[in-house]
Amino acid sequence: MIASEQHPGIEAQSSRPGVDDVRIARRRFLLAVASMAGAALWPWAARGQAARTRVILLGTGGGPRPRKTSSAAAQVIVSDGRAYVVDCGDGVARQLVLAGVSLASLRHVFITHHHSDHNADYGNLIWLAWAAGLRTRVDAWGPPPLEKMTKLFLEMNAYDISTRIADEGRIPLAPLIHVHESTDGGVILQEENMRVTSALVKHPPVAPAFGYRFDARDRSIVISGDTAPSDNLIELARGADVLIHDAYYPAAIDRLVSRVPNASSLKQSIVSHHTSAEDAGRIASAAKVKLLVLSHLVPPDDPEVSDQMWIDAARRHFQGSIVVGKDLLEI
Ligand SMILES: [Zn+2]
Repeated sequence: MIASEQHPGIEAQSSRPGVDDVRIARRRFLLAVASMAGAALWPWAARGQAARTRVILLGTGGGPRPRKTSSAAAQVIVSDGRAYVVDCGDGVARQLVLAGVSLASLRHVFITHHHSDHNADYGNLIWLAWAAGLRTRVDAWGPPPLEKMTKLFLEMNAYDISTRIADEGRIPLAPLIHVHESTDGGVILQEENMRVTSALVKHPPVAPAFGYRFDARDRSIVISGDTAPSDNLIELARGADVLIHDAYYPAAIDRLVSRVPNASSLKQSIVSHHTSAEDAGRIASAAKVKLLVLSHLVPPDDPEVSDQMWIDAARRHFQGSIVVGKDLLEI
């Protein structure tokens, strides 16, 4: 942008270009560039509307095993410049950076349930965001023992935190974090432009496990978390614009579990407390959502299961739009 001071169009705007003329012209040029970029990237901004609420899938693979092809469960909703992160699978802070979401904009963290593919980087996300410049309040929401986990995390990392406060002049981290545990569903957060509602879902033996609904000014987004087909989730998702739902592909489960020594109990665990792609379609249809996003895919990386196969399974019962989740895909 510095180069714009030599832009011929700017010089032409003044017959006697002095320093002030160049400054004014440069400002006009930057405004013009900004408005052009806005019109292209954010058409609603050009129409004088507030920025659209964004949803970005950060991690779409099911299970805690680190993989080359997809990260563990996490997604971010960005609304009014605030980042609402749902679940903190391994690498969530880096996935936010790759998605172009400022770590300093982290405002709320929601944990659906305490399985490691959903919470392994819960503490790391807040800690690293703070190291990257976060100076504002973060509220964390989820089932017990979230409060104890937060306290122990800060204790475990007290050396680094206190060193950076003393050595780098950072503000204390602990007072920024406000934890809210819940054991039942309902409206948990009501801000001027965002309401967040939770519902208990079925993910035994992990309980409570939650799905979350975000009602922004312009969009409604529901994230199922991990669940077997759940009536509560259908109620939560009723009429939503976007439903991001847990999904497994039954025919591929045998191939997945054949690689591990605990095959039979792992298979039983997957099919008893997750939802098949076909059932995810049934749920999307029952809830009358507009768009179904299949995510937390199990298996996450089977080359014999194509995107079309995932879509075809859900399509048996759902006529709306269907998307197969990919890391960093914006919905
Ligand atoms: Zn789980």
